[in-house]
Amino acid sequence: MTQVALGVDIGGTNTKVALVNDGGDVAEMETFPTGRDQAALIASIRDAAGRCRSSASIRGAGVAVAGFINPARDQLSYNPNLDWLVGFPLRDAMADALGATVALEVDSNASCLGEYRFGAGRGSRRFLCLVAGTGLGVGMIIDGALVRFMGECIGDAGHVVVDANGPECPCGGRGCAEAMVSERTIVQNAHSGATLRHVIENARNGNARAVAELAAAGSALGIAMASLSQIFFPDRIALAGGLAEAEDLVIPAAEAEFRRTVNAEARVHVAVVKATLGWRATVIGAAAPLLL
Ligand SMILES: [Zn+2]
Repeated sequence: MTQVALGVDIGGTNTKVALVNDGGDVAEMETFPTGRDQAALIASIRDAAGRCRSSASIRGAGVAVAGFINPARDQLSYNPNLDWLVGFPLRDAMADALGATVALEVDSNASCLGEYRFGAGRGSRRFLCLVAGTGLGVGMIIDGALVRFMGECIGDAGHVVVDANGPECPCGGRGCAEAMVSERTIVQNAHSGATLRHVIENARNGNARAVAELAAAGSALGIAMASLSQIFFPDRIALAGGLAEAEDLVIPAAEAEFRRTVNAEARVHVAVVKATLGWRATVIGAAAPLLL
């Protein structure tokens, strides 16, 4: 019987459970609301996992969660949007429910790892991945290993300041990249639809304000990429997440601003690319440590 792994992505709004094979392909997938109850979430994941794995034999499950995790990597240690899950023994409760080994990971790390193993990061020695959607997560892989120094990731790198006179951020700072490129900000400023997907659609249909907002978000991302490059010296930078789906409306603006502001060496040598796995990156990356 073929052995595969489960990839789980616990987000602030929805949770995904997927069966991932050794080629990094998603064979089965279910999505449901995350809710706000620990036991109910575990039960929903267990039930979805049971349907996804069917008769397949699994090596274990990788669980990605939004926010910081503790050094033992067995629970969420910080996320204002999932405060009811903070301090809950998530890894062990999942292992009990699934009867399998469970690895817990920060969601932006999982996306970065998914792209590194199976997508836009393949072959990179120093891979920086920005995941822009509801918020802005950032992961960094050097010589095949995720960089961890705060919250088992690279801290809140999505809150690097890109405009000292920019808007206040929910984190308490001002002009953070996340405050400039989050779905909420883009939707508020674009006045053309209730979700990021709508704004992108309207931009594609020629709505000038939507086009301008997406380009502005791209520029802010480019400055964040330039600032982060001075710390991490990536050889490749990928943009992932829902905003990356705007592609030509965002990435050229990000790349232009990156090249305008970054140091001379990086200006010439660093590639800015679109992530290739789309929404699958997080569940694939969560499962990746369990894949051959
Ligand atoms: Zn912030």
